[in-house]
Amino acid sequence: MSSTRAVRVGGVIVGGGYPAPVQTMWKEPLRADALDAAEARIRKLGDLGCGILRFAVPTEADAETLGALAARSVLPLVADIHFDWRIALRCLDFPIAKIRVNPGNLGAAWKLEEVASKAAAAGVPIRVGVNSGSLPADLKDHPERASALVLAAEREVAALDALGFRDVIVSMKASNVPETVSCNERFAARHPDVPLHIGVTEAGPLVQGCVRSAVALHALLSKGIGDTLRVSLSADMESEVLAGREILALSGGKRSGPELVSCPRCGRAGFDTHAFAERWRDRIYSLGKDVTVAIMGCVVNGPGEARHADIGITGAGDKVLVFRRGEIVRTIASEEADTVFEEELSKL
Ligand code: SF4
Repeated sequence: MSSTRAVRVGGVIVGGGYPAPVQTMWKEPLRADALDAAEARIRKLGDLGCGILRFAVPTEADAETLGALAARSVLPLVADIHFDWRIALRCLDFPIAKIRVNPGNLGAAWKLEEVASKAAAAGVPIRVGVNSGSLPADLKDHPERASALVLAAEREVAALDALGFRDVIVSMKASNVPETVSCNERFAARHPDVPLHIGVTEAGPLVQGCVRSAVALHALLSKGIGDTLRVSLSADMESEVLAGREILALSGGKRSGPELVSCPRCGRAGFDTHAFAERWRDRIYSLGKDVTVAIMGCVVNGPGEARHADIGITGAGDKVLVFRRGEIVRTIASEEADTVFEEELSKL
């Protein structure tokens, strides 16, 4: 059980032993004329398991656009502010759920004070987000980067604490796995009450990023460190959310929602499991139920895996078999696979 303070981020609680929400970050500029599409995509991210969504806010006009979206969003939206504290102040005129500031680049202390004062009045928490690539000037050349990350975070938390502002979440991220683990371990030991947002920054493309994030986050989560997480990938937001879910489930968090089993495919496959799994991934993970789905290439392992699945589909020569808890319920031609699979999924 985490001993961190519980911090409310919109309708989600971070810390205090509550389940760690998975986060991702919007990857394009937010367009004021595309809010309907953004709202729909946010809903889809929520269905996939995203709990909190962050947006870069480079201008005051962006703050206004994000504010309009926040009023319609099913997820709590976080404003990510660099350099200009006035943008943070403008965001706080809207129903933004959290402000993220970077101590390395906000500038004079009074700017943080102004932001903290308005955030406190609005009941909005602040994430102190320290990155190894943007440390405060006096810590940039520190001989040990993990220590520099901890010092930068501690400094900002102390400044906010002195202002009586305690709705704080801290993140310290490096692109290096051991540094990320080390700084979070040290900070958690020294400040066990401060909730931590954990992640490896700039972790890389899909495969590398998932592996590096899994290694670092598992090391922390399995020690009870981490109250919310983001997997930062050079890939789409949906992949970040699914990767975060998997890491949480395999690191002591309770698995909730669907589990997808799919075969790697080999020369025996009578069915293209890669394309099928890719096509159906988001639909399956949006089911919102504790179900196991198996997508298998042939009868060598297909029926065996499908037996343990709530629903399974497997190639079998020039046919495709659909299983429900071990029973073959349909034998179909491969061209019918998508239609029949949707029919069977709908019955779950
Ligand atoms: S299930 Fe069949 S196609 Fe898939 S990897 Fe195993 S043997 Fe190959």
